[in-house]
Amino acid sequence: MNANFASLMPQVIATWCEQEGHHVTLVCFTGFEDLAKEVPDDVDIVFIGAFTQAAQTAYALSNRFRASGAVTVLGGPHARCYPEDSVKYFDYVLGFTNKQIIRDVLQDCSPHRPLGQYLSAAEQPSDLPGVRERWKFIEQTLRKAPLIKIVPMIGSMGCPYTCSFCIDSTVAYNPLNFEVIKEDLRFLMTRFKRPRVGWHDPNFGIRFEDYMGTIEEAVPPDSIDFIAESSLSLLSEPHLKRLKKNGFKAILPGIESWYELGNKSKTGSKQGEEKLRDVAKHVNMILEYLPYVQTNFVLGMDGDGPESFQLTKKFVDITPAAFPAYSLLSAFGQAAPLNLEYQQDDRVIPFPFHFLNNNHAMNVKPKNYTWPEFYDQVIDLTAHSYSWSTIARRFRATTLRIPRWLNFVRAVSSEGFGRLKFYREVRRLLEEDRAFRAYFERETTELPAFYMNRLKNDLGELWEWLPEGAIYHDHRAYLKTEQAKKTQKVI
Ligand code: SF4
Repeated sequence: MNANFASLMPQVIATWCEQEGHHVTLVCFTGFEDLAKEVPDDVDIVFIGAFTQAAQTAYALSNRFRASGAVTVLGGPHARCYPEDSVKYFDYVLGFTNKQIIRDVLQDCSPHRPLGQYLSAAEQPSDLPGVRERWKFIEQTLRKAPLIKIVPMIGSMGCPYTCSFCIDSTVAYNPLNFEVIKEDLRFLMTRFKRPRVGWHDPNFGIRFEDYMGTIEEAVPPDSIDFIAESSLSLLSEPHLKRLKKNGFKAILPGIESWYELGNKSKTGSKQGEEKLRDVAKHVNMILEYLPYVQTNFVLGMDGDGPESFQLTKKFVDITPAAFPAYSLLSAFGQAAPLNLEYQQDDRVIPFPFHFLNNNHAMNVKPKNYTWPEFYDQVIDLTAHSYSWSTIARRFRATTLRIPRWLNFVRAVSSEGFGRLKFYREVRRLLEEDRAFRAYFERETTELPAFYMNRLKNDLGELWEWLPEGAIYHDHRAYLKTEQAKKTQKVI
């Protein structure tokens, strides 16, 4: 992970551990650090926070630390999505994590093997250490960010919307303490000439008035650059005026699909072309107020068909200044109830976790396309979105210097050109390599050499530490866990 996108929770855990009287070293592992140098030799306990795409890295690290006598703990999205798998490689696996859970782990601090202990609070924590308390950990992380430095903050947990694929759709919305936010913003003004803050709220601005009131009370207008992820339904023109006044520079609304999730786009029951027109108008209006907009789409949802890709291409053309970001539909274990349906319908493919980064693999068999048809559409859309003519139009339509260059770099880097190359390679193999195609069709669970070699290469020296069997996981574990719960209730 780039240091600017580092999660906030590891900083929170580090702060809580220090408050409990422990000596703490925090390492933001971007993949390049020499951990032998950065982590002290005599650690008693190691907490690792990981997204699923970092799971194999985390498993290998856990194995390495355990071999030198440490107890290991896994937290973060992977622990929540795949607890059944994670307990095989860690002494503790944490779901919802509050200070009491951390205290319990620290007090017990003993190996739990072969299967680790799964611990979870009843809900997300209601308060977290603010920026001032986390500062030393934030500062050391931001030293790794070369030019732009973004401070992570959060003002709420959960979301009132119920997008079927989202991990936050089942977590009740809860605002955190607005007084802490005020204090943090004032504190940041003493550290930077013009701070940049990235809000990590799942859906920023649900309690819009409270949020804006807090920012306005804390700091002068437009003195901090803010970035947030927010649904279109919250981005009305009066709200945009206030966001602009308060320094918001980038917003990332999720559109996801032209045929589903109309409520979060404020397009109600409108679908297809009708929804597209409304959303494009809305996005262009946002761009009159905020210089950077990234529109998020999920490709391959059940409600979408081939025409959806054509609509997205049209959208790219009529919102030239917005940067389109695409994710392939992915089912992350227990993340969302919809994943149970995919498992029940036997549509989940057991791609190793390493590839579940929303673009290197789609682990749900698409409903409305064959695999070659699906990849043809993805390639066509990606090629269109990052073609030289589209890049040039985006460049011209974007007014400010940083957003302009950011869009350009994203399009020509691994995100645009890189993914296109990867998708073309997958498409070729689907056609030419029978074993490769068989894996996609769930006729075999034997991982194609293409993925195996890539995994080995990406893990580098950690490959040696990957525990036996850790390449694979039970892709139906969630379903089995739910069925076991039902059986227990009957007994
Ligand atoms: S609006 Fe965003 S955060 Fe909320 S449930 Fe939908 S995808 Fe998740």
